[in-house]
Amino acid sequence: MSAVVHRSLKIDFPRIVGGEGNYVILEDGRRIFDASGGAAVACIGHGDTRVHDAIATQLKQISYCSTTFYTTDVCEKLCRDLVDSTHGVMKRAYLVNSGSEAMEAAMKLARQYYLEKVPPEPSRMRFIAREHSYHGITLGSLSMGGHVTRRAKFEPMLLDCVSRVSRCFPFRDKRVHETDSQYVARLADELDQEFRRVGPETVCAFVAEPIVGAALGCVPFIPGYLKAMKAVCEKYGALFILDEVMCGMGRSGTYHAWEQDDNAAPDIQTIGKCLGGGYQPIAGVLASKRVIEAFEKGTGVFVHGHTYQGHPVTCAAALAVQKIIREENLVQNVSNMGGLLSARLKGLLASHPNVGDIRGSGLFWGIEFVADTTTNKPFPSSAGVASGIAELGITEPYCIAVYPSSGTVDGVNGDHVIISPAYNISPADVETIATTVQRLIIDYFASKN
Ligand code: PLP
Repeated sequence: MSAVVHRSLKIDFPRIVGGEGNYVILEDGRRIFDASGGAAVACIGHGDTRVHDAIATQLKQISYCSTTFYTTDVCEKLCRDLVDSTHGVMKRAYLVNSGSEAMEAAMKLARQYYLEKVPPEPSRMRFIAREHSYHGITLGSLSMGGHVTRRAKFEPMLLDCVSRVSRCFPFRDKRVHETDSQYVARLADELDQEFRRVGPETVCAFVAEPIVGAALGCVPFIPGYLKAMKAVCEKYGALFILDEVMCGMGRSGTYHAWEQDDNAAPDIQTIGKCLGGGYQPIAGVLASKRVIEAFEKGTGVFVHGHTYQGHPVTCAAALAVQKIIREENLVQNVSNMGGLLSARLKGLLASHPNVGDIRGSGLFWGIEFVADTTTNKPFPSSAGVASGIAELGITEPYCIAVYPSSGTVDGVNGDHVIISPAYNISPADVETIATTVQRLIIDYFASKN
């Protein structure tokens, strides 16, 4: 029996004893193909000695310093690279240790921006976010998100400065005969109305994940959606915040997902997971010229900070991971292998009687399961379909890890699994993923009938 406090005290989790490239190795010798990179994190696979060496070198130089008093070359270099990756949109980067911390910092940065700018707008303290979004698990970031089950027990403790508009989710929400552009216009109009309902002078920002990850299972924006939502923010002088913690850093097939919507760049962007690729816990906030210049002309001090922010060892790991992504042209590989994966998953699974939708971008794909493909009726959440598939997946003969979640219909019901492998997979790996996942899904549902 484990002595560790896991998320569940009722499950004895399989123990990992090693990791090599696409595989994690369990203590009983099973080699599991990591088709989800954990929670869409392990973007260069496991056990890359180049990253280990970078971490060891940094540890020997300086293992920790307080960013209240000092900076380091690795922190400066990483922030410079991140800013440069945005083609002049962003001016500074702020590094923390998790996506939730990044969202907390983004919220406070947005609020303080309105106190720093000239003239200040102190009435702005609200946010408009979306239904069934996920922005993190700490109280502020949980307040921002609309993740029904993760919020439920803590609802009375959550901030009341967040209101919500509809998600952008064609499979479930687009009306019959509605075109993509009509759907986008409807969503932009809803946001416009929400600004007017709460009072535009009270709103700091609209916040969205360009590609919704864990909550809905890799649901990309419709072309034109980000641009339309940004235009509404501009109309009311509010900031446009994009949470790219899960879909960013190359995962979607471009380095930043917003590049795919005619460069609808945010004023503030959060990043995480594939920044450090899991080699160290690191995440960040990118702040645009508009935001930074207000601070530069104002107090110059962001009233926020963590003991471990900009930690040199995490920065060294992220620098090494990003160097590999750049030098091996891996974002291009994400785009190429993503096209192949999309075609193979759809070819093998689209006609399965329990597969409702296959959607995604780059190497970020979701498969949604339904009880009936004519109505897209979900399985009841009590059936535990997504977690059942993931549990079966790591057994023989499949030995493949996919990431399960649910809530696509109403935040509770509606199962999906996420496939988000390493950026450096080959066509043969794509074939392994697609055929193994096909067999897994066929066998899972056959065992239930
Ligand atoms: N934002 C998004 C879009 C996420 O997917 C996640 C985590 O899955 C977070 C924020 C929170 O990140 P973390 O779990 O690192 O705190």
